[in-house]
Amino acid sequence: MAIALKGANKTVALDASQLSVTSVSLNGTPSRFVFDKKRAKLKIPGIPARQSIVEITYSKEVSDDVIFGLYKSKYGSDYFLATDLEPAEARTVFPCVDEPAHKAVFRLQVTTEDGLGVIANTPIVRKESAGAGRTTYTFQETPRMSTYLFFIAIGRFEETKLTAGGIDVITATRPGQAENSHVALEISSEALLEYQKYYGVPYPLRKLHIVALPEYHTGAMENWGAIASRESYALIREDTNFRLKNRGAMSMVHEVAHQWFGDLVTMKWWDDLWLNESFATLMSYKLTQKLRPDWEMWGVFLRDEVYREDGAMVLDALSTTHPVQAHIKDVAQATHTFDSISYGKGACVLRMLEGYVGEEAFRKGVSDYLKKFSFSNATGKDLWEALGRRSGLPVASMARAWLTRPGYPLVKARVIGGKLELTQRPFRLGGGRARGVWPIPIKMRANGKQTSFILRRESARLSVPATTELLLNVGRTGFYVTMYDAASYDLLASNFPGLSSYDKAGVMNDIYLLLQGDMVKPDLYARFVSLCASSPDSVATQIVAEQLMVVNAVAPDSATVRKMVRSFYPPLLRHFGEAPIRGEPPVVGVTREYLTSLFALANNSYAEKMARLFDHYTDLDPSLKAAAAIGFAVANGAPAVMTLRDMVVATQSEVERDLLYRGLSAVRDPNLILDSLDLGLTGRVSRSDLHYCVLGAALNPQAKEILWQWLKKNYDAISKLYGGAQQFYIDMERVIPLCAVEYESDARRFLSGRRLKDGGSSVTRILEMLHINASLRKRLLSSGN
Ligand SMILES: [Zn+2]
Repeated sequence: MAIALKGANKTVALDASQLSVTSVSLNGTPSRFVFDKKRAKLKIPGIPARQSIVEITYSKEVSDDVIFGLYKSKYGSDYFLATDLEPAEARTVFPCVDEPAHKAVFRLQVTTEDGLGVIANTPIVRKESAGAGRTTYTFQETPRMSTYLFFIAIGRFEETKLTAGGIDVITATRPGQAENSHVALEISSEALLEYQKYYGVPYPLRKLHIVALPEYHTGAMENWGAIASRESYALIREDTNFRLKNRGAMSMVHEVAHQWFGDLVTMKWWDDLWLNESFATLMSYKLTQKLRPDWEMWGVFLRDEVYREDGAMVLDALSTTHPVQAHIKDVAQATHTFDSISYGKGACVLRMLEGYVGEEAFRKGVSDYLKKFSFSNATGKDLWEALGRRSGLPVASMARAWLTRPGYPLVKARVIGGKLELTQRPFRLGGGRARGVWPIPIKMRANGKQTSFILRRESARLSVPATTELLLNVGRTGFYVTMYDAASYDLLASNFPGLSSYDKAGVMNDIYLLLQGDMVKPDLYARFVSLCASSPDSVATQIVAEQLMVVNAVAPDSATVRKMVRSFYPPLLRHFGEAPIRGEPPVVGVTREYLTSLFALANNSYAEKMARLFDHYTDLDPSLKAAAAIGFAVANGAPAVMTLRDMVVATQSEVERDLLYRGLSAVRDPNLILDSLDLGLTGRVSRSDLHYCVLGAALNPQAKEILWQWLKKNYDAISKLYGGAQQFYIDMERVIPLCAVEYESDARRFLSGRRLKDGGSSVTRILEMLHINASLRKRLLSSGN
């Protein structure tokens, strides 16, 4: 490879890692070089003045044991060679200055065996024979771009193409899968056209690939002009299970948003990573809602980004939280910020800011920002200035208050002597009394009257009558948790059936967080769970079903938990029905999937009922497949596991495997789970699957001990497979706090030896979540007995 450098320098130090460098020349003359492998630096002394060309000859051995960096994404007996370089793996593929602010123009030429296709960021401009059964591809030069966005994939691709506004949008899949890429192709093309309008900036490249990789460790990645994705996100069909189709389509819309916000304009340094991710997250919901209004995306936003068990409101209430705009000293630390705080909380804050300045001023500010910093880098401050100029409002101070401080407020609402008193303080799941004040945009309704104001002080007394009704955070756009006094909870309970969908979901979220934080008793939560069961609503039902799924994994032996499970599922199953009704809204199908599959997981006799559906599994409505697989495994044990495993091996679809693993991991005899876990880890089918079997097993109360022992045994191998990347910690943060809930001191011993050099923030977070679950378990066991 050759690098053109400008300006004189005594020594140039390039980032380079896991490469074998054989020679370096400077302007055609062989040069000395020092490869400091420990610090991953290739040092070349004596760079002359002005222009110089550094040529480096090197090779790279591609490991079979990782699915990160430059790796083999395997399927059957074949594979794609592909890259996944964020945040700092470019240096393991070519020597470079591997920082987002050091953008460069790339001119790429690839020589490979005849018959193999090559995909990179830009289109191929020349293809010629290199003799001896080899072909050379020359690619169009890229615009200035960051190294982490570089992409290359080589293999036997099948491509499908659409043209959107003169841009070729192309899906690339393994052979035989092209017909399953239409949904991703269509929604990406629609998104591309919509973003051009929204941003007021044309798509900067000539083509956009979506490359479906059979083995991929995370969800998808926004490489400029060549989005890479796991198959279950890109290979979805119109008749795919709606929840999974929605997840995949959203992910495409997210990555297309980045083509401008992130790729055209990039953060200066990783402390503004959130800017990329929060923005793409917000836009993916906004735009998908616009393109597919019946998908009801804002309910999905609350469920998946904000309220989930490792969502923004949970992670940000831990002592290990970090500000959205975190101080990042090196790339190792950057890895730990790809979390729900950067994606979910940041998106909530941006949504709040959009509400503050208005949709049009927000859009115009974003457009100004993109135009001003095209092909360059920017910071959060640059965006606030652009939004401030367009709106004339003090955006920067509002943004600073929410983005540069960790955590969020607990707002206590009490009615004293006919007046409403609101007080705020930081909310911590692990207890402790911190102080701090946020400017909170309060939207509330009392006695039928709605008011909005900003609570800037620690407390406020309002002359607002709240004798028949009191609800804070109406519409759930505020990022805070509300705790009421006993009388106001009684009012809330009597008004609950009349609340909107998002308000019901939000009330349930707040009470559940307070339960986790030991600030309300299990009885209060149980009372509202029954209210949810008697006033059915899709979004609230999904939120509560997820909460009960966690509670059932943490304390399945608690009488209170068993009572809640029995009071919640049956009435809602009667309401939503156990069979799809033609023409029903898609969100109802998702709710049914939650109810049938999670009740089957928690209750043996219901599982046996669902097992009967398995007889015609192939023709079953996709929303019932998870419940049928779980039921089949629970009711039949070993023979079911054999059948399900054969189906996992036989199917070509990762989406189908996701559903089948739900069954495999639900089987009651824990020894039968081991094979499924090994199936994911060894990659006999696909190493992408590890994620599904481990997460599934963590929810199976019978599998806790065996999963924990298995994880300890394989922890280092899994970490290596993921290349130590963020996805490893994201999975561990979900799994360990559930499966090790009865082995807290063992987990502490085991993980304390594995803290990372950067302070091990993810490991500390895992242990903190584990402690919260362990103490919740104790309280649930002692309540109601
Ligand atoms: Zn992203």
